Amino acid sequence: MEKTLQQRKMLLAGEWVTGSQTINVENPQDGEIIAQIPAATKEEALFAIQEGVKGAEIASRLSTFERMSILKKAANWIEERQTLFAETIATEGSKTIREARKEVKRCIETIRISAEETRRIHGETVPFDQMEGNENRVGYYQRFPIGLIVAITPFNDPLNLVAHKVGPAIAAGNAIIVKPATVTPLSALLLAEAFEQAGLPKKVLSVITGNSSEIGDVLVTHPAVRMISFTGGYEAGESIASKAGIKKLGMELGSNSPAIVLRDADIHEAVSSTVSGAFWAVGQNCLGVQRVYIEEEVYSIFEEMFVEKTRNLLIGDKLCEATDMGPLITEKEAIRIENLVLEALENGAELLCGGKRDGAFYTPTVLTNVDPESKIAQEEIFGPVVILDRVKDFSEAIQRSNNVAYGLQAGIFTKNLDNAFKAIRELEFGGIMVNDSSDFRIDAMPFGGMKQSGIGREGVAFSILEMTELKVVCFKLNHGY
Ligand code: NAP
Repeated sequence: MEKTLQQRKMLLAGEWVTGSQTINVENPQDGEIIAQIPAATKEEALFAIQEGVKGAEIASRLSTFERMSILKKAANWIEERQTLFAETIATEGSKTIREARKEVKRCIETIRISAEETRRIHGETVPFDQMEGNENRVGYYQRFPIGLIVAITPFNDPLNLVAHKVGPAIAAGNAIIVKPATVTPLSALLLAEAFEQAGLPKKVLSVITGNSSEIGDVLVTHPAVRMISFTGGYEAGESIASKAGIKKLGMELGSNSPAIVLRDADIHEAVSSTVSGAFWAVGQNCLGVQRVYIEEEVYSIFEEMFVEKTRNLLIGDKLCEATDMGPLITEKEAIRIENLVLEALENGAELLCGGKRDGAFYTPTVLTNVDPESKIAQEEIFGPVVILDRVKDFSEAIQRSNNVAYGLQAGIFTKNLDNAFKAIRELEFGGIMVNDSSDFRIDAMPFGGMKQSGIGREGVAFSILEMTELKVVCFKLNHGY
């Protein structure tokens, strides 16, 4: 791939504009500057909102057919340029080229599902005559677009997590302003191009780049914005929620996901699934496996196989086909992970493999004997570190799994149906994966967390519910119905 410095514009209310100030986008692998993007100002954010209100009016007048065909065309445009999208993800972010290709496929899927769900946005009749005295009333409820949405997205899936907001917003007839993570804006800008090429009317979509410290508050607090759809860390989510005022909030936040391995599990399957779940995207994954609770009868064999498989992961150049794991998103993040691990080791944890940093690269790391109340066990690591722990029985595994503030997804490996149903009932997580790790998702399924992992659900049809308002309609007739 040719590596030239690109001056990128942002899509502000239908026009591609440069900025008076710019921000460098770096490849985390070697610090090379790969592009410069506009650093949007507060005034530009305000302009995006003012024009976005007009965009919401335009979007609300698009027919179901028009919205479906725009979404289908956008998906086709991306499909025809899969290589460009994958290379963009793998250059600006942490993902390897293989991981990036998978994200592009999922993005196409997300937008195609959005097109399909557009025709399924409907209401129901309401039997108003169920209450005495209302025999002459008849009516229904119907969903209408919510209006202008602000979407704020993280760095770790820089394309598909943006698609999960833009696709359903357009399907539901809304306008949307996207503020992508400052470190990975290029995939979101390419997505904006796809929608422009697909014929989306101007002002319905803006993708504005720039630091949250400059434009975050304008976007979050403005009363004309009817919904904030946020994906990111708990701290940013809490700050946004405290400032947003009366508007709808969709919060897809972090987690600290467990996997439970019972003695009757297929150990090969469990090892392969949890190693992949722990180290996919360098562990920078909201669904990433952070803690594995293994029944003591199978602990030793599980540990041995898990460490061996982890040691075989190939770290290196993201664009090389053979690479399993690239760098963290920044060297600063790699240092944060290094310090977390060092602190755990000082407090008695045992290092089974990994624990080495080179710039932004950090080797896949397996720990055991970690204090369950320590920072590394309680907080979201968001890096390539996993904790293995033996438990005496299933009840202890469930209790330990629930003993964190987060609750996005959990995995359980067992062949016993009773145990699977006990886990489904008792685990305090938004998704329970039986014989898979927490790191399983398709784009149509309801997705979201309990506790500090968030508010609401994504997954296209579920996002559309969040991005629409109900109106109830009742006719009073002269005669009974
Ligand atoms: P982050 O630091 O929370 O940033 C996410 C986005 O929020 C970025 O665009 C950031 O902009 C913006 N932002 C930060 N503070 C803000 C504020 N006060 N007001 C308005 N916007 C603000 O998260 P990240 O490091 O990019 O991503 C990692 C986190 O996302 C992890 O916790 C992960 O678990 C979570 N995540 C959750 C899901 C899910 O679906 N539940 C999926 C993926 C990731 P700047 O870049 O300009 O600061």
